[in-house]
Amino acid sequence: MRLSQYFMPVLRDDPKEAEIASHRLMLRTGMVRQEAAGSYSWLPMGFRVLKKIEQIVREEQNRAGALEVLMPTLQSADLWRKSGRYDDYGKEMLRIKDRQDRDLLYGPTNEEMITDIFRSGIQSYKDMPRNLYHIQWKFRDEVRPRFGVMRGREFLMKDAYSFDVTREAGQHAYNKMFVSYLKTFARLGIKAVPMRADTGPIGGDDSHEFLVLADTGESGVFFDGALHDLDWSTIEIDYDNVEAVANMVSEYTSKYAATDEKHDQSEFEKRVPEGKRLSGRGIEVGHIFFFGDKYSKPLGCEVQGPDGKKITVQSGSYGIGVSRLVGGIIEASHDKDGIIWPESVAPFHVGLINLKVGDAEADAACEKIYKALEAKGVEVLYDDRNQPGGAKFAAMDLIGLPWQVIIGPRGLKDGIAEVKNRKTGARENVALDQIVGRFA
Ligand code: ATP
Ligand code: MG
Repeated sequence: MRLSQYFMPVLRDDPKEAEIASHRLMLRTGMVRQEAAGSYSWLPMGFRVLKKIEQIVREEQNRAGALEVLMPTLQSADLWRKSGRYDDYGKEMLRIKDRQDRDLLYGPTNEEMITDIFRSGIQSYKDMPRNLYHIQWKFRDEVRPRFGVMRGREFLMKDAYSFDVTREAGQHAYNKMFVSYLKTFARLGIKAVPMRADTGPIGGDDSHEFLVLADTGESGVFFDGALHDLDWSTIEIDYDNVEAVANMVSEYTSKYAATDEKHDQSEFEKRVPEGKRLSGRGIEVGHIFFFGDKYSKPLGCEVQGPDGKKITVQSGSYGIGVSRLVGGIIEASHDKDGIIWPESVAPFHVGLINLKVGDAEADAACEKIYKALEAKGVEVLYDDRNQPGGAKFAAMDLIGLPWQVIIGPRGLKDGIAEVKNRKTGARENVALDQIVGRFA
């Protein structure tokens, strides 16, 4: 992509309304634009990141055996009356009437609808286990939408729902999602620590939240420093191996980790040696629940069991805040100059800077490398605008692509370009004919 042809409305100054780094940086780099309180348009750069995160989430759900579907954003109120949540959900639920005066709502979550879909689509216990998920926009009329996409009113969520015959099978489904979350967040380049959580209005028996540590997080967190020593980056698992999956869950849950809602100071002090007691703040990026029959019972989700008797299905639900993650990743990965994208979600892999647009040699060298990178499928953003070098450096640091290739007349005399790593700041001179090979 040529920057001269891109749509990236960068702001010169920090927007006043932004209280935290991710919100400020997303507005400054023109990733999003606010349309109403807690509601954003995703502009080309922001949209690319959102889609990359979504795709990683999808791949890891599929790998864990979940099946993708897509449910509508608008739901009928009737199903919610059956589960009793139409009244319980309160003002966060956006209620709408259609022209026939029927009550609709903009889905804040989908337990009711998916349970109904599942109930009407299966015959017997043989149709289980199943896990269905979708990645769809939700609306919650939050009292205080803030921090940009972190607490929006309209936001993108992945929500999965498991259905099992027995409690043990339901627990395995829960454990599989737990492990798939560890893998998902690792691929996104962040460490999201699982913490035992309150089940809140969604209810249920067992629940964990996954929190990214960041000073601007809304939850207080307390955890055992030994968690840092676990291997978060290369998790290998056979999802069919019930015991191995359960063991991995215990490995990550046996150490003390709790949000302020569940924190118990005396237990913390008992279980964690003094020097290892860490506390700070965290951003909730995922939340999983095991319900047992909380939804399946009122919604009549029953199947024929092996002995012919009816069994009430065991279910769980598993959310990931896809749009919140865009902000969450920035909170965890930025510096004073701007964003530092993890490679897996960066909008482009390489930023190519032409220091002297209009200079025949510089233009030709850049064109050649730009075209060769594109041809090899390397995502490259070429700054071909006629602007001073300083402004280009600042813009490239601000948008935070993992690599910069800087080409100017001085280096060209020696046949070299400068390659800079955004994260470490390390710079290296590389021969022009080696550049493409570095990235392809
Ligand atoms: P919170 O405690 O932050 O309000 P929640 O517990 O109500 O979130 P869940 O019902 O657990 O949210 O939703 C699953 C995931 O969706 C959350 O872990 C979070 O990542 C994301 N999410 C929830 N509310 C919002 C929001 N208003 N804006 C963006 N993402 C959200
Ligand atoms: Mg939650």
